[in-house]
Amino acid sequence: MTKGYTVYIIHKVRENLKYDLYDVLTSEGKTVSETFDLAKEHLLVAGQEYDPQDTEPVTLTLQNIALNKIYLTGKTAMTITFPCDRCLEPVPERMELSFERELLSEDLREKAKEGEAEECGYLDGSVLDVKALVEEEILLSMPAKILCRNDCKGLCPKCGANLNETECGCDTFVPDPRLAGLGDILEKMKQKEV
Ligand SMILES: [Zn+2]
Ligand SMILES: [Zn+2]
Repeated sequence: MTKGYTVYIIHKVRENLKYDLYDVLTSEGKTVSETFDLAKEHLLVAGQEYDPQDTEPVTLTLQNIALNKIYLTGKTAMTITFPCDRCLEPVPERMELSFERELLSEDLREKAKEGEAEECGYLDGSVLDVKALVEEEILLSMPAKILCRNDCKGLCPKCGANLNETECGCDTFVPDPRLAGLGDILEKMKQKEV
């Protein structure tokens, strides 16, 4: 890697979120830094669309580590409003994303795929889809449980009232399923008697 050189283009924030890696993949020792603007984008995470707020530009460093191999590091930050898992009220979460990936040329990906079919949703040929990469990273970094508060009481299963705000007074008693089965048998016995 003695003949490596570095090109930094950090003054310009790209609005085009597709970036062709061909030059870095094929230039031994080359490192490129790029910044992308995701602020106006809707992001699709696990089938759900989000409009992040206070989005910092995505900074990526792409380093050629071997012919057709890139070591990528990236970071960005944004606030995404998720629904509370229990009561569906909006819960803003600040996401500080810092990530790394090894990217391979299409040929090497095809070879690596033999045996195990692993799809890489953010690479199309040699073109990196920065938005898809960030969407994947959000999915991986999402909190497993999103709660508006630790003791959120959720929604009433009968009337849908937010139990943090009101006592709806519904009878939410769930009968023991084994007894429910007994009820069916009694019902059938009654019908036979008639
Ligand atoms: Zn809640
Ligand atoms: Zn209720």
